[in-house]
Amino acid sequence: MLYCISLGIKWVNLVSFFDSLKNFKKQIDQIESTVYSGKQSLLEVYERNAKLEAEIVVRTRELDTANRQMLTLQHVWDMMNSSKPLSSVLNAIARSLQGELGYLNTCIPKRLVDDKGVYLQLVSFSGELFGSSFLKFFNCEPSDLRLEFPKEEHLVQAIDTNTIYQSTNITELIKSVVPNAPELVIKGIVSHSKAKSYIMVPLAHKNAHFGCLVLFSSREEATEAELKFLNLFARQIELAITIADLFQMVKEQAITDSMTGLFNRRYFEECLMKEVVRAKRHCQKFTVIGIDLDYLKKINDVYGHNYGDLAIKSIADVLKSSCRSIDIPARMGGEEFNVILPGVDSQGGMVFAERIRKTIESIKLEKIGNITASVGVATYIEHSNDVYELLEIVDHAMYESKRNGRNRVTLAKPISETSWQEIAISTFIDILAKHRIPLDVKTSKMLLEKLQEMNLDNDVLYQVSDTLVSTYNPEHSTGGTKKKILLATLLAKHFDLSKENVDRLKIAVLLYDIGNTLLPKDLLAKKDPLSDEDKLSIKQHPIIAAKEILEPISSIVDIIPIIEKHHENWNGTGYPNKLSGENIPIESQIILIVDSYFALMENRPYRKAMSKDEAIKIIMEDSNSKWSAKLANEFVAVVKEDFAE
Ligand code: GH3
Ligand code: MG
Repeated sequence: MLYCISLGIKWVNLVSFFDSLKNFKKQIDQIESTVYSGKQSLLEVYERNAKLEAEIVVRTRELDTANRQMLTLQHVWDMMNSSKPLSSVLNAIARSLQGELGYLNTCIPKRLVDDKGVYLQLVSFSGELFGSSFLKFFNCEPSDLRLEFPKEEHLVQAIDTNTIYQSTNITELIKSVVPNAPELVIKGIVSHSKAKSYIMVPLAHKNAHFGCLVLFSSREEATEAELKFLNLFARQIELAITIADLFQMVKEQAITDSMTGLFNRRYFEECLMKEVVRAKRHCQKFTVIGIDLDYLKKINDVYGHNYGDLAIKSIADVLKSSCRSIDIPARMGGEEFNVILPGVDSQGGMVFAERIRKTIESIKLEKIGNITASVGVATYIEHSNDVYELLEIVDHAMYESKRNGRNRVTLAKPISETSWQEIAISTFIDILAKHRIPLDVKTSKMLLEKLQEMNLDNDVLYQVSDTLVSTYNPEHSTGGTKKKILLATLLAKHFDLSKENVDRLKIAVLLYDIGNTLLPKDLLAKKDPLSDEDKLSIKQHPIIAAKEILEPISSIVDIIPIIEKHHENWNGTGYPNKLSGENIPIESQIILIVDSYFALMENRPYRKAMSKDEAIKIIMEDSNSKWSAKLANEFVAVVKEDFAE
């Protein structure tokens, strides 16, 4: 029994022990479960963090790409607004795509057409385009490559539908644009290149295919976002092309003569100034050619203005096809053309001019038949180191060609070797041909024809001057100019004037009153006393007008001051500057006394002509007031002794 009791107790203890053990295990399980679930959430947190970190890296990379894309777009925008030429804009685009967005190479092949058909030319590229072996094969610069327009259907379709195309088949692309490249060369190019794919983005301009943006990438496939950006970028490039094209058009219009497509006068003058700077810096010569179509007026009169225009345009065509890219052929106005030949001396200039003349002579135009041109040639420094003078002597040479029968080339003479007659002839031709004074067409034509005669003598010069004076002074007698020049020259001998000064004096006598041609006719013919305003007009206008007429003619720049001062009195009472005594050039003093003498012997609306003696008397009376006593005495002596009328 006891045994049973003790066995019963032992059993009870064992049960409770197992219960406790069970409890204990439960507790351990609970702890284990808590620890496990804690570990699980830790793992989850860790994993989540890792995921977030990876996402941050991706997003940062995307942000960085977006940032670079924005910068690249900004760059294109800046280029678009810079009015740079299209080639610079496209080059900057290719560079920024390759550099900032990490493509291996980028290029823009442009679609062009010539008589051999459609082809592609690389207008911009960046990165080493397919390695040097490719260019070695062609032995030329990338920009000189003539590439075939691709014929592969998928490429053509992409171009036609203006959609982006990407492929890993670089071999196919190369073969399609360079079909004659040997297989071995293409293999070498592809295996040496790190490019794994290319993206072709077609570009449109003015509703036509302009070309493509081609990007070579080290990745096999571009992302959606990348393609989207390239699409957007392509539209920006198209905008840039349109803007650059517009800038170019405006620029070209501003420097182009619309009728002939040659450069205009303004651009010619701008280039001339630049050429002078270059010539000075590099001690280099340049030649200017002057070309004037012969007998245009006749062509206009006989066949009509349109045929005149046709003749002008055909000369322009000859110049366009004969000039090098660095030459500047320009239409200066009407039927006058000039060409700057940089780096060319007078010998080279003569060869060029003769070639031009011959080509013009060989043209046969509808109805008109043959046309000819007269040409002048002058070289910077060789003939003059003053650019205005250079243009002047080109003109002189050209007029010399006209005078000697037209359809010829004349080399200019340095200004120092040009006689006073030649300067006077070209000055009158310039005044008449450029309509610097109001003269009726018939008279102007008659005088020009005389001035352009071969073997011209001094009498023609006197006749031209007489005719001009008689347009505002009906009392002026034929031969008046000749007498004035003779008397002035005789008087000059008494004042030891050099030959150069006497020559200048002769030209000044021919021109000193030319400003009167611009005065109102009724003012000069007025019988009533002149009002103060009339006097002022008469006093100022001839000088101002003379300056206006003569100032553009640079070969007479040293004669203009003589003319400007020929109404200054010895005692300072003259005009326009009230100069006195020796401040008045002796040539101007001589002109004043000679002019006054002949004027006194002519009728005027307000008085009768005086006799020679009466005139001499007045000249003497004005000693020390209008002129010096010395000049008056010498003058009277010359008139009485040497000057037989
Ligand atoms: P020369 O041989 O001496 O040069 O005689 P020319 O008839 O060619 O020269 P002139 O200076 O006597 O006349 C030029 C004419 O050319 C006068 C002008 O009406 C005409 N002209 C000027 N510009 C144009 C133009 O653009 N078209 C046409 N058809 N005629 C023009
Ligand atoms: Mg002409």
